[in-house]
Amino acid sequence: SPALLWFRQDLRLADNPALQAVADRPLLPVFVLDDAAAGRWAPGAASRWWLRQSLEALGRDLAARGTPLLLVRGRAEIVIPALAAAIGAPEVLAGRLYQPWARERDRRVAEALEVAGRRLRLLTSSLLRDPARVMSGSGRPYAVYTPFAKAVAAMGEPDFPILPPARLRPVAAPPPGDTLDSLALYPVAGEPDWAADFPALWTPGEAGAQARLARFVAGPVSGYAAQRNDPGTEGTSGLSPHLHWGELSPRQVWHAVRQAQPGELSQPWPFLSEILWREFSYHLLWHRPEMPDRALRERFAGFPWQPDAALLRAWQRGRTGYPIVDAGMRQLWHYGWMHNRVRMIAASLLVKHLLQPWQAGAAWFWDTLVDADLASNSASWQWIAGSGSDAAPYFRVFNPVLQGEKFDPAGRYVRRFVPELAALPGKWLHQPWKAPAEVLRGAGVILGRDYPGPVIAHAAGRARALAAFAALRAGG
Ligand code: FAD
Repeated sequence: SPALLWFRQDLRLADNPALQAVADRPLLPVFVLDDAAAGRWAPGAASRWWLRQSLEALGRDLAARGTPLLLVRGRAEIVIPALAAAIGAPEVLAGRLYQPWARERDRRVAEALEVAGRRLRLLTSSLLRDPARVMSGSGRPYAVYTPFAKAVAAMGEPDFPILPPARLRPVAAPPPGDTLDSLALYPVAGEPDWAADFPALWTPGEAGAQARLARFVAGPVSGYAAQRNDPGTEGTSGLSPHLHWGELSPRQVWHAVRQAQPGELSQPWPFLSEILWREFSYHLLWHRPEMPDRALRERFAGFPWQPDAALLRAWQRGRTGYPIVDAGMRQLWHYGWMHNRVRMIAASLLVKHLLQPWQAGAAWFWDTLVDADLASNSASWQWIAGSGSDAAPYFRVFNPVLQGEKFDPAGRYVRRFVPELAALPGKWLHQPWKAPAEVLRGAGVILGRDYPGPVIAHAAGRARALAAFAALRAGG
């Protein structure tokens, strides 16, 4: 009997358990753009750029195997049961999703299918381990990363990836669908193309993901432990958007890295442990579905944030006066991506020095990151804010000058993304306001005109953040 294959965040043909389960049946592959169900968490602008390219690639790959991809814009609980009925499919297959809105929607879709005697079958395809299956000895979910990672490691190495099917059979009479253009993804005709730099940096789709993985295991993986914190080099994999959309699976990544570094797990561990941070974020999201909206630590509910539109805007535009932060925020705008170390420094400045709610920072990242991911983004923001289940203590306030000097000592990163400071000597690059007047003149920089002074002095920002935290503790 025919099957309906519902692609969501597993936009690939290789190592796709849902596809494998139905590869020998007449198949209707479909993608449904359902912004209404996702609500606030519908893909942001940068994600929409990515999604468009990725769907185009998936459509090509499927067509090359004999089965075109159907695109539909609408509500899944209406679209999916109607399609299943139209082709006479008793089963709908999909990779499992973990976002609260998606779980709720899957429940509605399953219900609507059951009324007609059909069923929705969800398979684990975007994580190494299903979050419901990783439990502590006492049968509870994990709240802290290290024991979680140990537990996952103790389950053994993941299974080997599944090869892609060579040929697929289409259903006899596929129903009509929408076109890529009518999905209203990005770019939108007639709007300024702020994603102009993306195509040179990114190749969305399964082939692009595999190429990126191959490039990483051929080079940077061997120096990952030493280089991962240097934002001025390509020391990390850049796989995050590919993983987010499931253009490759974490076990494909795992085994490619293991092939490059066989033997003891300790050698590839610095990298594999990042893959487990991703798993841990999903674990938290699954067991604490309130994570995107509310502090996981309850006492943070009363934190005295001081929302201020002008401060938020200065941060978004990369005009805080702290070069490492501004470089990061501008990299984000141009690349749709920011180096992890700088994400941490920039996020910390926003929530601590500027006392802006972490949700405001998370929302900006949501719209501008090509790897925007509800699990990793909300877990990371809560971790930085100190309100997460496994958070860094609130009183640890990054000093953005020292962080810049430590992680961008040669100034390569700042000079690339804050070109107005490029001629400043290294000694002053991370604190231009301390440079003597003649040095600034020599570098052609007028502070306040070409580049802003610091939005708040580090000592003052730190003291204010600690006072806000102390008030929270005093209040219970
Ligand atoms: P690599 O260093 O090559 O790591 C490999 C993979 O491991 C990544 O692709 C990613 O899937 C995963 N990973 C790495 N670090 C983390 C982490 N700290 N938490 C969870 N997964 C991780 N990552 C996202 O994928 N989406 C987000 O929306 C996101 N928002 C973030 C917000 C803040 C404030 C911070 C501090 C971090 C955020 N991260 C997010 C985590 C991390 O910054 C990115 O995953 C990483 O920079 C992606 O680059 P890469 O693929 O080169 O990483």
